[in-house]
Formats: sequence, C-alpha cells, structure tokens
Amino acid sequence: MDPQKFFRITRGGRVEKVLSGITAAETAGLRPIKLNSVVVRGFNEDDVVPLAALTLERPWEVRFIEMMPFGSVGDFAEAGVVKSQEIQAAIEAALGPLEPLDLSGGEPARTFRLPGASGTVGLISPVSQPFCAKCGRLRLTADGRLRLCLLRDDEADLLTPLRRGATYDEIKEIFRTAAYRRPFGHALAEKMFPQARVMIQIGG
Ligand code: SF4
Repeated sequence: MDPQKFFRITRGGRVEKVLSGITAAETAGLRPIKLNSVVVRGFNEDDVVPLAALTLERPWEVRFIEMMPFGSVGDFAEAGVVKSQEIQAAIEAALGPLEPLDLSGGEPARTFRLPGASGTVGLISPVSQPFCAKCGRLRLTADGRLRLCLLRDDEADLLTPLRRGATYDEIKEIFRTAAYRRPFGHALAEKMFPQARVMIQIGG
C-alpha cells in the first residue's frame, strides 16, 4: 500500500498501476478477484491492516500467506514468518471481528469477513496450520516437470519423454505413477526445506 515500499520490494514496480489494473479487472466483471500477499516481518507487516481494509469497500478477497522456507533463504524465511494468528489479531484490533465463513472446498485459505465488508479476508497458514491433508495439487513447472508438493523437491520429468516422442499413454503413466508417490505433506517441522528451487522457479 506504500508506493515506495512496493517499489523496493518488487524492484521497480508501481503500486498505482497495480491497483488500477485490479480495479479494471473488477470493472470488466472478472470474478473472483484474489489478492495474495506474503507477510514478512520487518518488510510489510504494517500493510496488513490497510490491505484488509480494502475489503470494506471492494468485493475482493485479500489473502495473507505465511512465508514458506526454501533452500538457501530458509533461515531468512523462518525468521521472517508472521503467523496467521498474529495477522488476525492485528486486523481485529484495528477493524473489528473477523467472522469465519463456511466456504468449504479445495481452497487453502480460511475465509473471513469484517463487519459490513463487501469483500473477504483469507488466511493461508502453511507453517502454523498446514492444510496438507486436503491438498491434491500437482504443479507443472515452466521447464516441464511435475512438482508433487510445493515444499518437497521430488519431481517427475515430463519434458524429456515428451521431446523423445513419448506417446499419450506413456505420459499418462508417468503422470499416474508420480501422482501415487505424492507425499502426505511437507516436513517443515523436521526442518526439511526444499533445496532445489525457490518459489519464483515453481510458480506458486
Ligand atoms: S502437500 Fe505440499 S503442496 Fe500441498 S499443502 Fe502441503 S505443502 Fe503445500
């Protein structure tokens, strides 16, 4: 919400352009509009309340995500994590109680609404309240690998067999075998952080 801070964190981005893009998306009728922000101690925890306050007027879902540790930045991420409980307490102290909404489905966010708000607030808590038990996601990376869990390094290579001319059934079998060996969740509690890639190399 602070133009200078946004410029620094994004290395050159202009927050006014982003906000006008979001408003344009709303005017064009795109739904739902979800804004994800990763809260990092010492960087942007002051922006939690102004971001949540956007939902009072706008029909957006503003979601706060706990930072996840990856490889060489694992220690930094652990030190910087702001847990959802703290985020919720800050919002409630400033803007009133967050009423939980029952939006069951495959969404990782727990969803709330501030009193009288048009939009909603989401809390995504992979560190403090993991939601792995209901996660069925596989991610396809830009270099053609199937990542079985965001926070594990295990991947299945699809690109090499595709380039070799693998048939549809062969690719299907690789996909199926990989899906069966999906882990049951991350291992952050055992201090096992993914090492091979960081978030921008996976795609979130
Ligand atoms: S299983 Fe992996 S990808 Fe799914 S929620 Fe847990 S950590 Fe995230």
